[in-house]
Amino acid sequence: MRIAVLGAGVAGLVAGLRLTQAGHTVDVYERWPGLGGQAATIDVGGGHLLERYYHHLFSTDRHIAGLYDELGMPDELEWLSSSVAYFADGKQWPFVTPMDLLRFKPMPPLARVRLGAAVVALQKGPGAPGPFEHVTARKWIERYMGKDAYRTLWGPLLRGKFGERADDVAMVWLQNKLRLRRGDDAADEKLGYPKHSWEKLLHALQEQIEAGGGRVLIDRPIAKLSADFTVTPGAPNSFRRGHDPREFDTIEPETYDAVLATLPSDVFEQVLEPGVLPESYLARARSIEYFTALCLLIEIDQQFSPYYWTNIGDDALPFVGLIEHTNLMGPERYDGRRFLYVANYLPKGHELLGLSPDELLDRYTPGLQAINPAFDRSWVQQLWAHREPAAQPIVTVGYREKIPAMKTPRRGLVLANTTQIFPEDRGTNYAVREGDEAARALLEWLPSERE
Ligand SMILES: Cc1cc2nc3c(=O)[nH]c(=O)nc-3n(C[C@H](O)[C@H](O)[C@H](O)COP(=O)(O)OP(=O)(O)OC[C@H]3O[C@@H](n4cnc5c(N)ncnc54)[C@H](O)[C@@H]3O)c2cc1C
Repeated sequence: MRIAVLGAGVAGLVAGLRLTQAGHTVDVYERWPGLGGQAATIDVGGGHLLERYYHHLFSTDRHIAGLYDELGMPDELEWLSSSVAYFADGKQWPFVTPMDLLRFKPMPPLARVRLGAAVVALQKGPGAPGPFEHVTARKWIERYMGKDAYRTLWGPLLRGKFGERADDVAMVWLQNKLRLRRGDDAADEKLGYPKHSWEKLLHALQEQIEAGGGRVLIDRPIAKLSADFTVTPGAPNSFRRGHDPREFDTIEPETYDAVLATLPSDVFEQVLEPGVLPESYLARARSIEYFTALCLLIEIDQQFSPYYWTNIGDDALPFVGLIEHTNLMGPERYDGRRFLYVANYLPKGHELLGLSPDELLDRYTPGLQAINPAFDRSWVQQLWAHREPAAQPIVTVGYREKIPAMKTPRRGLVLANTTQIFPEDRGTNYAVREGDEAARALLEWLPSERE
């Protein structure tokens, strides 16, 4: 059968692979002129590719590690020593081991012990999400870790990631983050990064789909989807018009036997012609809100700090994290060049989202100098800014009940996106799992091509 997959992010490409392996012919439609969606790379010059948004893997990311093995690239992932800091009271505090926590002066000593005990209990506990789904992180933390822990540590972190929605975030989000970093190897946590960036995996997936007779069509968004699975694509360069598919000029449509969409929920609704899906399904998908990721990537000519990852615990700084990529994957991998991401999560319409890379750097420079007073604009070699509107679903109390089913009420139409990843938070590992599950869901509806 002929199947249209919408979106060539990790979930779409993996679903495309599985449907191809099941004997179907797959066309993947992608808005961006490149593969990978949120894990897409850019050419930073000198033959080097780097993700638009910082990316690494945890040792618990077994689905994606399995995919590398399956595609014949078992040695592609390198496991590298990581270092994490927390910026508070004008200083980067190392934040990896239990000893680091005990030395974290911004909190009173007893509060540190209480916090440490609660974190260990969460990490070593049975891990069932149920008890944490119906209580906010704030309430749980203040009760079991103490008010100091919320005020000094988790409050700023949650506000950084979820802004004014921080108080609504369910504890299950944090419980899972901590559970997936159990800390068995806390003193020397290893993070995974592919030797050739995420691009190699994305291309391997494309090759497999094409070898099965399918097509991976980049710079070919879907503008419209009708009830008989006619896909109307947007004209080349539609991505320059933004994300709303209703703004795209269209080209010749094609009709398919089934459709598997990996689009964000809002874009999915915008491509549907009226009546394709009932309002009850759409309302459910709509009830989950996203925050936008804003990421400034800076090429610097010297090391910014000794840490790979710095969480910002100071509300006065206009960003939430610093990820110095070349403190994980060394600068020798990039002919001595160094790269620093400045991370932010913002609600739609926030004024920072409208700034150019240079304007953003102007806004961020005092904050960067608060962390490293020596930082100077003369360090900056190149700048890139990227915005991802559907970056972070907001996991509120009772989230599980809001998740739209993969199998939509229309037989032959499947939706798979990051809002359905639960209780884990989104990530490429879970996008692989999502792609597998979505393909399986669609195959249950289709006659087998292999009989
Ligand atoms: C700032 C940031 C940091 C991250 N860090 C990490 C990390 O360290 N490790 C990790 O594993 N994960 C990380 N992630 C998350 C990870 O990248 C995502 O969870 C994963 O890539 C999602 O894959 P997906 O295929 O579900 O969605 P997406 O990648 O969003 O794919 C959806 C695709 O649909 C396309 N599309 C949109 N509109 C249309 C249209 N009209 N027609 C056709 N196609 C369309 C999009 O261009 C996109 O390619 C990070 C994400 C962000 C934003």
